[in-house]
Amino acid sequence: MAKRAVPPLTPARDTTVDLLVIGAGTGMAAALAANERGLSSLIVEKTKYVGGSTARSGGAFWMPANPVLTEARTGDTVERGRTYVRSVVDGTAPVERGDAFVDNGAETVAMLQRTTPMKFFWAKGYSDYHPERPGGAAVGRTCECRPFNLSQLGEERGRLRPGLMDAGLPMPTTGADYKWMNLMVRTPVKGFSRIFRRLAQGVAGLAVKREYAAGGQAIAAGLFAGVLNANIPVWTETSLVRLVKDGDRVTGAVLEQNGREVTVTARRGVVLAAGGFDHDMEWRHKFQSESLADGESLGAEGNTGDAIKIGQEIGAGVD
Ligand SMILES: Cc1cc2nc3c(=O)[nH]c(=O)nc-3n(C[C@H](O)[C@H](O)[C@H](O)COP(=O)(O)OP(=O)(O)OC[C@H]3O[C@@H](n4cnc5c(N)ncnc54)[C@H](O)[C@@H]3O)c2cc1C
Repeated sequence: MAKRAVPPLTPARDTTVDLLVIGAGTGMAAALAANERGLSSLIVEKTKYVGGSTARSGGAFWMPANPVLTEARTGDTVERGRTYVRSVVDGTAPVERGDAFVDNGAETVAMLQRTTPMKFFWAKGYSDYHPERPGGAAVGRTCECRPFNLSQLGEERGRLRPGLMDAGLPMPTTGADYKWMNLMVRTPVKGFSRIFRRLAQGVAGLAVKREYAAGGQAIAAGLFAGVLNANIPVWTETSLVRLVKDGDRVTGAVLEQNGREVTVTARRGVVLAAGGFDHDMEWRHKFQSESLADGESLGAEGNTGDAIKIGQEIGAGVD
């Protein structure tokens, strides 16, 4: 992917919003949901790019009984999804958490269909990882975003975090395409037709100034496009430093941009969506494996566990 200029950042300042979102990966969805309810929100992002690990991911999402699955007449239900999650999680985490995920998945996808230009499809045949478990589905529930035209980001295009791999060709390849490409020796017609279709889409798109991307690039760009359309401000190169409390309630956060601290008051809450601790080697050795070496994570470099640590500082529970 060609290197692009990153637009100038918005200077951070003291302000008050309804919802403050820390991290511009999936956190963008929280801001979109708040915006739909008429709440003001602000997204702050530590790095110069928007997208986080989401922009580097495969972009395949698993949400039972979501509207895409319903439209495809898969027959999936919330109850089956709950049964499956409960069976796979098998008591290692509170049941309410799994249920909350399943119960709100469909509405989350519907919200994204309303608030972003993304178009989703069911990756039929992308099996659940444990289809033999109660509620499991061998035909799968995974969905993806159709190739997304990054030109829709306009001047903000350069702020989208680049993907991990550069195919060297304009060829927006979805996970569902990879399946047939991998099976090319067995089913050459399907394999070649996928390659041809995506190459044609990529090349023809460029001819009319459309830059198609798939996978996590498409999801992150789609979320970002929704955020831009809704005029939700995003302050990049701005980090959460600490949370502000009034009694037991979090009322805002202190942020840092270019060595300068500002305070944002959040009337309705602060969403911590600052990713995991992919690049904190001390924690990775402690909680994962001592054999891990630096740089072995494909996650975005800003993910150093900040929000987890800052949450713990004020007594938040982690599990
Ligand atoms: C190569 C790869 C492929 C994957 N494929 C899939 C897949 O197909 N399907 C799937 O479900 N999952 C997949 N995953 C996992 C998935 O991408 C992540 O679980 C998900 O993107 C995490 O989203 P997030 O919003 O929590 O974090 P992120 O998307 O990483 O966003 C967090 C953001 O917070 C920012 N941040 C960090 N600290 C601060 C701070 N102090 N202040 C402000 N901002 C901060 C970071 O810079 C980052 O931009 C994949 C992951 C990788 C790496």
